[in-house]
Amino acid sequence: MTAELIFVGTELLLGNILNTNAKYLSEQFASLGIDCYYQTVVGDNAGRLKETFLNAWNRSDIVILSGGLGPTEDDLTKETVSEALDIPLVFDSEAMNRIRELFAKRSEEAPASNEKQAYVPKGCKVLYNENGTAPGVIIEKNDKIAILLPGPERELVPMFEESVKGYLKDISDSVIVSRCVKMCGISESIVGEKIKDLTQNGGNPTVATYAGCGEVHIRITAKAATEKDAGKLIKPIVRELKNRFGAYIYTTDNDVTLEKAVVDLLLANHLTVSTVESCTGGLVAGRLINVPGVSEVLKLCYVTYSNKAKRKLLGIKKGVLEKHTAVSREVCEEMLKGAMLINKADVVVSVTGLAGPDGGTEEKPVGLVYLGCSVKGKITVEKHYFSGNRAKIRESAVAYSLILLRRCILEYFSEVELNFIP
Ligand code: ATP
Repeated sequence: MTAELIFVGTELLLGNILNTNAKYLSEQFASLGIDCYYQTVVGDNAGRLKETFLNAWNRSDIVILSGGLGPTEDDLTKETVSEALDIPLVFDSEAMNRIRELFAKRSEEAPASNEKQAYVPKGCKVLYNENGTAPGVIIEKNDKIAILLPGPERELVPMFEESVKGYLKDISDSVIVSRCVKMCGISESIVGEKIKDLTQNGGNPTVATYAGCGEVHIRITAKAATEKDAGKLIKPIVRELKNRFGAYIYTTDNDVTLEKAVVDLLLANHLTVSTVESCTGGLVAGRLINVPGVSEVLKLCYVTYSNKAKRKLLGIKKGVLEKHTAVSREVCEEMLKGAMLINKADVVVSVTGLAGPDGGTEEKPVGLVYLGCSVKGKITVEKHYFSGNRAKIRESAVAYSLILLRRCILEYFSEVELNFIP
């Protein structure tokens, strides 16, 4: 069984909005085990939409369309698909009642234009919209299926979850399950080298690497009749990856982020943490605060961007700042010590660097960042050269601070010696 997706909207073609429905629906079809070979974006133009739809209808078993179900003249999806399939539109009084109710809740009367939304292709399955006015529809004809969904994410996602997923599950004979093994502190090329035998296998499951900022993810994807069977195919690969990469792996759970893994490590070891940031301006704290429950471990977070703030809040001597400058190993260490003295957190992480674009010198170029971490007084300071613009340098500094934090805790408690590979 094959499916394809059509996204309707001139605003998508112009780049006014990001096609987030594409990401969502693609993921859904992958996990349903339905192969999706084509995706098309088409503007609000009846001729081009009809041509696009018929192309899809002729080559795929299931065609999903998102957008263009609204009340205005340029919302053409339902009308165009009905015409292409030669199915008349008929008035659906239940849809109309729901539209009226929705307006009544806002103490308004439904405008005449919304009546257009109550017309649906004859004989179709109507998907009533709990979050908007446009009903979705499922049309079955000649052993093929067309599914029309509203464009706004807050309408499309619940409609898909409630009415479409189960429908597709019933007609799909397989599932695709993916599991992510997430690592940090190791480069993608080294990971790639070490798992060549698994990635070049080309069978089921497939193994592929993805590199993010400071992280490498290995995705294992299996196709099977049931989720349980797919899990059985994935499990030995995960075990093998654990053997090969050990403590570089921070999680094998798809939903766990690096900051969540770090916070879990702090919680498990009953450690409090404090951050002292210069060029990252609170972003390290921000990532830790992404994690619900971090209040159990997070103590004070400092943003000491100026030299004056470093002196006043952390007690760093003027002479140290003048002699070594703010972006130096010495000041990075003094930032840790200053914070430790004031708030007595078990773990402190510090960042000072040159994010640019100005201020670099030959000796201290833009991108030079010092990261520090202290675990119960055991201090580590690292020197990094990050590339990219100001935002990228800051993003890298944040990611590598979390990686350093994790590594220092692991080393402190279990003597795990990770050779750092940038
Ligand atoms: P409505 O009933 O609100 O008019 P509709 O089904 O007619 O919805 P569109 O008019 O095509 O949908 O789009 C309405 C809004 O939905 C867009 O302005 C955009 O915010 C969002 N939207 C549409 N398509 C997508 C998409 N592919 N990805 C993300 N958002 C989208």
